[in-house]
Amino acid sequence: MTLIKPSILISNTFDPLSRDEEHVMKLYQTIADLNYYNAIETRIIFNTQVQKEFADLATLHEWYVTFWVTGNLNNLAFRLNNLNESERIKAVDQVKIYCDLAVKSNAKAIGFCSGKTEGHPLEEQEQFFKSVVSILVHARKYEELDIIIEPLDSSSDKRNTLGDLETSLSFFQRINSSGLNHDKRIRCCIDTAHFALNNDNLSETIKELSIYSDRVHFANAILDPSHIDYGDKHIAIGDPGFLDKGYCIELYEQCRTLDFISKDTYLTIEERVLDQQKMFEKESEHREFLNTLRAI
Ligand SMILES: [Zn+2]
Repeated sequence: MTLIKPSILISNTFDPLSRDEEHVMKLYQTIADLNYYNAIETRIIFNTQVQKEFADLATLHEWYVTFWVTGNLNNLAFRLNNLNESERIKAVDQVKIYCDLAVKSNAKAIGFCSGKTEGHPLEEQEQFFKSVVSILVHARKYEELDIIIEPLDSSSDKRNTLGDLETSLSFFQRINSSGLNHDKRIRCCIDTAHFALNNDNLSETIKELSIYSDRVHFANAILDPSHIDYGDKHIAIGDPGFLDKGYCIELYEQCRTLDFISKDTYLTIEERVLDQQKMFEKESEHREFLNTLRAI
């Protein structure tokens, strides 16, 4: 039976607050005071003083910290799947810089996505594979720094090279069979919204990818293309999306029966909260639901 530990996606639940480095430590301290989460998923920290303060807090609370840099790369228009070799290398070099920054904050993992497709899936997969290998070599300079890859939806909204279940599976199979992942540093993040948007069967997705993965994001989405909020909008669990609490319970029960890549397996509720008045309320709602799941 896999023990699933709670994680919080700070950069989504506290989206606006998490961007404000000047005041962000107050937020992290509040989360630390809850004494609840084993893992923190958030955005990279640039300010050296804040890095230091965050590193101390993360050590004290033994957080497994992941910095997601997908948004940073998008903002720079960098894609790790770029067919243009010099542009791809620029993106890789940027991720290496983020790795160095992440370690300063005592992060244990860096997370990113493949990048939008330009319509050449096989060549892009090849480019992304090369990028991951190069980032892996860099990450191994550090005693502890995992690489988390999140497949996004491939044809509906984010249109990423990686991808639907089939593409994701062949990518992670290749990583493992090449012998590159003997220390299990490369891990998959299974986000329910993206696979549902791909029309992949979620139960099958979780089952097939679990051996490559150390975490699941319970994220909801509207799957009807004619709906105004169709796509990856990070909506709350429940109507009008496909993922209600009952479905979460079903998936959670399945997760517990599977062997993930790591004995520390994390679960988070992914919802983007932009209203500053509601962020803490939402966090406690998510925590309460995580508690319900963990009590099963
Ligand atoms: Zn996610």
